[in-house]
Amino acid sequence: MKKNAVVLLFALISLSACAQQKTENVFIITLDGLRWQELYTGADEALIGNKKYVDNTTELSELFWRETALERRETLMPFFWSVLAKEGQLLGNRTLGSLVNCTNNMWFSYPGYNEILTGKADDERINSNSKIPNPNETILEFVNKQKGFEGKVAAFGSWDVFPYIVNEERSGVPVNAGFEKSTDTPLTEKEAFLNRLQDEIPGPWGGVRLDAFTHHFAMEYVKKHSPRLVYIAYGETDDFAHDGEYDHYLKSARQTDQFIKEVWEYIQSTPQYKDKTTLIITTDHGRGTDPIDTWRSHGTDISNAGQIWMAAIGPDTPAKGEADSGQYYQNQVAATVAQLLGLKYDLKGAGKPVKGFLK
Ligand SMILES: [Zn+2]
Repeated sequence: MKKNAVVLLFALISLSACAQQKTENVFIITLDGLRWQELYTGADEALIGNKKYVDNTTELSELFWRETALERRETLMPFFWSVLAKEGQLLGNRTLGSLVNCTNNMWFSYPGYNEILTGKADDERINSNSKIPNPNETILEFVNKQKGFEGKVAAFGSWDVFPYIVNEERSGVPVNAGFEKSTDTPLTEKEAFLNRLQDEIPGPWGGVRLDAFTHHFAMEYVKKHSPRLVYIAYGETDDFAHDGEYDHYLKSARQTDQFIKEVWEYIQSTPQYKDKTTLIITTDHGRGTDPIDTWRSHGTDISNAGQIWMAAIGPDTPAKGEADSGQYYQNQVAATVAQLLGLKYDLKGAGKPVKGFLK
């Protein structure tokens, strides 16, 4: 080989090694405690007609019961199975051999969100859901400090512990969560109305608001400020499950699917985001299956509650649909987000990027 050819070859190799991702913006979305069983097989036969957990079994069956698992899941989460499955990727269908697990051994919310957002389990320090400011730096805090991303990171959650998980005070990342109103003045007409409705509509739970508020506060903020890294944490599915209301759990899963569709359609219809934005969607923990009543719960004493799922769609994620093999972990989300944004996130002991999500 001539010297010039060698130089050219090396130039090409180094060029491809640092190939730029097309992604300029990332939305991380979580659905609290939505089981992989419902995502991949739809409504559960053992629960949908169970009068202990369903008020009107006839209505629920009409809405969500279909003969096959494929039909049931499409009925439950149409956006996931019409758009994500065709244009993106879904991991964690254990019936096919694709596995996703928590690496934390807690299998409840704060440890799960800490693992997703920091890339590393911390069972020593993050072992309760108490409102303790996170000692660990999240990917949101890290990105917010990078050139071109300052002030371009925001988080929205239904659960009032998120300001602590993200450590809003230290990180400077604005977090609107729990029953907080929008203070992003001047308020849009919608934000002012949402603030009012949030006072007027009684929430079913103490620390968790209904997801419609979280969703619309997030959408208004996104439309106003075009943030580059957004975190939206929907919460209803977990609380309805704890309450033992399988009907509301399913209806909430379907509604959240529609919220995510709305986010994606906004992204793909807005020049700032179109074809340069990736969605990563996952959950903080699984729930039980056996005995059947453990579907309501999760935590170390509930077997298999550390089984989760993960999905992505965006310009750098090959359209491979549903995975049928592989083992992935909750601690890989943060590094994946960093790599998509072209940033180096070198936290010692953190999970590595999900290679399949990147070209
Ligand atoms: Zn829970």
